[in-house]
Amino acid sequence: MARHKIAVIGVGKIAQDQHLPVIDASDAFELAATVSTRGLSHNGLPAFRTPAELYAALPDVKLVSICTPPGIRHQYVREALAAGKDVMMEKPPTTTISELDDLIAEARKRGRVLYQTWHSQFNEAVDRTRAILAEEGVSTLRIDWRESVRKWHPGQDWVWEPGGFGVCDPGINALSIFSKIMPFPVFVQSARLTFPANRQTPVDVEITFKSDQKHAPQLSAGFNWLEESGEIWTFSILTRAGNTLLLEGGGRRLSVNGELVVEHGDHEYGAMYAHFARLLDGKKSDVDAAPLRLMSDVFLLGARENGPEFEW
Ligand code: NAP
Repeated sequence: MARHKIAVIGVGKIAQDQHLPVIDASDAFELAATVSTRGLSHNGLPAFRTPAELYAALPDVKLVSICTPPGIRHQYVREALAAGKDVMMEKPPTTTISELDDLIAEARKRGRVLYQTWHSQFNEAVDRTRAILAEEGVSTLRIDWRESVRKWHPGQDWVWEPGGFGVCDPGINALSIFSKIMPFPVFVQSARLTFPANRQTPVDVEITFKSDQKHAPQLSAGFNWLEESGEIWTFSILTRAGNTLLLEGGGRRLSVNGELVVEHGDHEYGAMYAHFARLLDGKKSDVDAAPLRLMSDVFLLGARENGPEFEW
């Protein structure tokens, strides 16, 4: 079967680390062009400065994958849908719930496929955790999501601007796992957000969640962006059946009562593109707003504190 011609919009860190190599290796997709404000091309393929230039020059390219920061994404996705394209978009989907709702409605109205991705959900260890919690319930759950902004977003000033999410940019990956594995609805009860005094987004966040469960499970999360010792992307869970689950490595390793149950490498983006191909075949969209809703609630309810200034 012919491969789908696709263009990547925004040739930054995640496009270069994941999207372009995964498309290069894919049986289902063929890169046709890039859109880059800096004019970056890939493998000598055409590079356009704006999406409009791409749509005018290569009308037979029917798919785009939008890898820009979230602030521009609503405009770019709307423009792509209006041009008749099916769209895959990076996380966090948009900067507001209203924008995401608008894109869902717009894709439906135009009969286009909209795939809003959450890469951390594509891990077998996450699926195994979900299955165990569905069976055993949750007594306590603690999320620790700590990494270095200097390593993962080197020099990216947009992360510190309003709408840039700050440490909630990686933190929303944790919430995408959380909303997938929890066997009952969860809500933000309270939050504390610490902002560098010279920046507009938080560097450290502590969250307490609540639920409708009579046994009042203890649910909390802590995100930090100044961890230089390596990544700590961990869920520590005690089930109601008394088993202790440790989901580590951003969802790639699960131990139960200290025994390793599943461990695997990084297949997230390959699995996401395979899922996109299935959505295209079935002409179905896939948008999960739950992680963005929870994160928005953190910003709505959170108490603000100022911390030390941040410089790269
Ligand atoms: P990045 O390195 O800053 O790249 C984003 C690219 O988008 C820029 O290089 C630029 O590409 C384009 N761009 C930036 N601002 C733009 C604007 N105002 N208008 C049009 N184009 C613009 O950021 P990133 O780390 O790749 O992150 C992009 C998205 O991927 C974010 O939503 C992030 O949460 C998500 N993500 C990042 C990582 C990671 O490890 N960093 C992991 C998973 C997901 P051109 O110069 O080519 O135009």
